[in-house]
Amino acid sequence: MEHTEARPSWDCRACGKPWPCDPAREQLATAMTMTELRTAMWIRLEEAALELPPGPATELFERFLRWAG
Ligand SMILES: [Zn+2]
Repeated sequence: MEHTEARPSWDCRACGKPWPCDPAREQLATAMTMTELRTAMWIRLEEAALELPPGPATELFERFLRWAG
């Protein structure tokens, strides 16, 4: 199974960890340029912010964007 996000939980379908898990990050980083990656992760972050229970904004930033450079 692919390491993609289950929605609206945003856990990984393959390993059950909060998406993007490490394998998902590797796959994404390999498949895209850094610019594409950051754009894609901003979009996911905005979607996740609407679907996940409210929490600190910094948490989502760390999870979706910080690793993407
Ligand atoms: Zn995973």
